[in-house]
Amino acid sequence: MPVIHVTQQQTFPQLDVPPRLLLGPGPANTHPRVVQAMGMPTLGHLDPVLLTLMGEVQELLRYAWQTENECTLVISGTGTAAMETAVANLVEPGDVVLVGVIGYFGQRLVEMAGRYGGKVHTIAKAWGETFTLAEIEAALVQYQPAILMLVHAETSTGALQSLASIGALCHAHNCLFLTDSVTSLGAAPLFLDEWEIDVAYSCSQKGLSCPPGASPITFSPRALHKLENRKHKVGSWYFDITLLRPYWFGATRSYHHTMSSNMIYALREGLRLVAEEGLEARWQCHQANAHMLWEGLAALDLTCHVSDPAQRIPSLTTVRVPDGVDAAATAKQLLHEYNIEIAGGFSQLAGKVWRIGLMGYNSRAENVALLLHALERVLHE
Ligand SMILES: *Cc1c(COP(=O)(O)O)cnc(C)c1O
Repeated sequence: MPVIHVTQQQTFPQLDVPPRLLLGPGPANTHPRVVQAMGMPTLGHLDPVLLTLMGEVQELLRYAWQTENECTLVISGTGTAAMETAVANLVEPGDVVLVGVIGYFGQRLVEMAGRYGGKVHTIAKAWGETFTLAEIEAALVQYQPAILMLVHAETSTGALQSLASIGALCHAHNCLFLTDSVTSLGAAPLFLDEWEIDVAYSCSQKGLSCPPGASPITFSPRALHKLENRKHKVGSWYFDITLLRPYWFGATRSYHHTMSSNMIYALREGLRLVAEEGLEARWQCHQANAHMLWEGLAALDLTCHVSDPAQRIPSLTTVRVPDGVDAAATAKQLLHEYNIEIAGGFSQLAGKVWRIGLMGYNSRAENVALLLHALERVLHE
């Protein structure tokens, strides 16, 4: 027998994680009921009980997204995995793709669409601004894309892109409409069918109060038609919906990969909380707590980066860093002295804004009060 090396055989202390209040752009704190659900015994990925729970998650997702889409499922991975699934399945080599870029995540869509062979065109806005319907229409006429991609809630800038009417416009121009709803699902009004959105995806750790790791995605019948008539196989094996469907749909299910049952429990509980509260009440709660935050920030002489409140994401606020204040040092102090996590900006907004999230379980008045109090003390020192 070879010699067993023992240098790494260490006895580390018992895990002791600080009780952070996660008020950044995600993850948010996991709801206690979700934590409890995740502690249930692990089930096999083809256990009939798990298959039933997966069906319940699909049904609850249709409610949360306001869609009748049959092809609604969960991807193993974070929001970016669902984003890549959306792009990989919808874009075929040679497809003309138009991406409306209002921040970092739009840029990520550009990068992905190019990698899957799309001929990508972009229209862009300054970080913090959004497109008008007329601007979208002009670009559809100019580029004649097969797919338009837009981020609903741009977490890098705090801006909420209005989506109503864009889907109808896309369909009038023979174009499919893909939307990133990673930050908006469970937090801001979203009507997939009414707004004629063909593909949407999200994540677990923002508006749904779960840990990261499993991400919802949905395809309209129109999007499925394109998928079923592809000339080329989907460029990713793991994210190929045609391979995932026999696992998620039908009377006889077959193995594709080992779905985490514990993440299904988490999503089921997070989505049950959404259904219990009701979408309207939940959206109003996020809006009311955002207003409380905005008023409190104004009282501290702090300015929101997105000037029009109607264009702000209710679950993620970007705040301008006052002259002479070190953005990173402030965030660090909030973390170390108050156990509160907020984030800075990046790229164009590096050092210029803080990003404050009130997502899902964390969208509560006591969190707003605590953050404002801590921020005031840190800024006055
Ligand atoms: C967080 C986020 C993502 C990426 O999700 P991950 O879970 O970090 O992979 C994508 N798009 C938007 C708009 C986001 O806010």
